[in-house]
Amino acid sequence: MTALTAQISTIACPTEAEGPGRRWALWFQGCSIRCPGCCNPHLFSKDGGKTISITDLISNLDKAHKNDAIEGITLLGGEPTEQLEAATILAEHAQSIGLTVLVFTGKRLEEFKENQKTNSFLQKIDILVDGPFDITQPETKRRWIGSSNQRIHLLSKRASYPDPRWELPNTLEITLRQGSLLVNGFPLVNQKIPLAIVKDSHGNRFN
Ligand code: SF4
Repeated sequence: MTALTAQISTIACPTEAEGPGRRWALWFQGCSIRCPGCCNPHLFSKDGGKTISITDLISNLDKAHKNDAIEGITLLGGEPTEQLEAATILAEHAQSIGLTVLVFTGKRLEEFKENQKTNSFLQKIDILVDGPFDITQPETKRRWIGSSNQRIHLLSKRASYPDPRWELPNTLEITLRQGSLLVNGFPLVNQKIPLAIVKDSHGNRFN
């Protein structure tokens, strides 16, 4: 058992709006990159969110793997590399139980290779979407990508691209859970209104 904890904003599962297929998505709290126009400015500060032990996060993921027919996990934020040890453990565990790992980062792939710890994280990732969000270059074709400067890197044979699912319209997902609403997906302003999926906390759609 590890005593390590992570600062987490939200976990959504099963979500279909944060990468291909049904996924367990985790938003880390805290990002020092602070791209102008980021759709998650409430995640900039490390002071928000909840402190959760890695043991509890892994058990949450294992439960989702057992019950929610997920094909992978998505780590985003916030900036996953700013909680590197936690992100690496989660990614390694996900791969060990047969799930794919998709990571959105504001850093560039080349920066990951500059030191041993980020390079080790890279070994546990199947698909990396890299680079800071650039509000002057909104992406219009690739699903889930914020701006056209951001690159998709396939880092393992388990990842596939092109994948027709990356070409569908972006979606906004609205989940009714425990008396509250979770809204995630692609809430960028000044873009076409995305298709909205409305569902319960088990992933059953209302539309
Ligand atoms: S790196 Fe990601 S989370 Fe951080 S400011 Fe940029 S878009 Fe937002």
